[in-house]
Amino acid sequence: MDSNEMVRAGDEFISLAGSIPEAQLLDGLGCGFTRPEHAGSKPALALALFRSAIPTDDIYRLAKARVDEISASKETFVPIFLTNHCEADCAMCGMRTSNGELHRKFSGRSVVDEQLRILRDAEHVRGVGFLTGEYADKFTRYVNAFYVGWAINRALSYGFEKVFFNIGSMAPDEIAVLADWLEPGDERITMCVFQETYDLEKYDSVIGRRGRHTPKADFDKRLRSFENWLDAGFKAVNPGFLVGLHDLDQELVRILHHIDGLKARDAKIYVSLPRLRPALGVSNKTKIGDDAYIRLISVIALLYPEAGIVITTREDVEFQDRALPLIRTLSPGSPDVSPYRWEGNAANDVESSQFVIPDHRRPRDILSRLKGNGYDVRYFEHAPRPHPSGELRTAS
Ligand code: SF4
Repeated sequence: MDSNEMVRAGDEFISLAGSIPEAQLLDGLGCGFTRPEHAGSKPALALALFRSAIPTDDIYRLAKARVDEISASKETFVPIFLTNHCEADCAMCGMRTSNGELHRKFSGRSVVDEQLRILRDAEHVRGVGFLTGEYADKFTRYVNAFYVGWAINRALSYGFEKVFFNIGSMAPDEIAVLADWLEPGDERITMCVFQETYDLEKYDSVIGRRGRHTPKADFDKRLRSFENWLDAGFKAVNPGFLVGLHDLDQELVRILHHIDGLKARDAKIYVSLPRLRPALGVSNKTKIGDDAYIRLISVIALLYPEAGIVITTREDVEFQDRALPLIRTLSPGSPDVSPYRWEGNAANDVESSQFVIPDHRRPRDILSRLKGNGYDVRYFEHAPRPHPSGELRTAS
């Protein structure tokens, strides 16, 4: 998909949504819109449902049942920001290159190893996500792909079973450098590339900064990253947009069209819908209240239950509890650089974090509570288990 096709299809879905009668939506609710005649028009159905007068509680209840049908268990991974250096300049982000106030950090081998040991042995998780900024020149992009490929390989050797990475757009040659560290087509590895907004003008003003060149300014290059990942033989992808950056109607149909294209290629899909959070030098007040946000999540969960929704500790505990029945993945953790400690809560210092979160509980406390509430949580174990290799336990 390129941006021209995305705009054309999105406009068609918006127009179609306006012509779907509410009776047809009510008819579709019972079957989750799984009938063949709905196959090509799900983004339009989703928008019509989102805009309809049908109560959110009804959509929520049906969505919960649909998600349970696919899988009753939840998943988790904990993010590790390997560095907060970034050469892009996204207006909403604490890591933007123009933020001279941010205390920049980089994690070397011993730091990454210790973070992995803390997550494995103190937090008892087996899912991790690596994040960095995005970089401009080709050499730095190769080096970052090499660095993150090494970190993923390291996590797998420590016994982690699920690894996400979120390092910006990736061209085929950059994926090749990262993939050199991995087994071909390893389905445990998920590429995350959030488009942030699917609106080209908004993207240009917030991410591209009105023509100023930044490594993230090329909308289509970002959009192509998943195609490149799937072409390289991998399977798991995690698109997303920042909820509140632009008009929700347009974002909804465009991300769902993007997901449809990825599904057609047999991708395993996670979807992220983060709301804005405050960061150093930006207040980032979200424009989307809890009720609209849960309605958005409910509609996507009902029509795309196989596209597992990811939420994080960007959201407070009350909202997490409300959204849990609809999502696949709860990702607890901090957007500070290598922030985990053997004792006490993770750091989330505004002077070195990408943004500030409201929930600072330890991952093990958040996930234990989930288990206590009856959820099966994949990639989290209450009690530490012996690691098969043993020797890596003491690596530093
Ligand atoms: S959102 Fe990502 S690419 Fe943009 S400034 Fe922040 S870290 Fe860099």
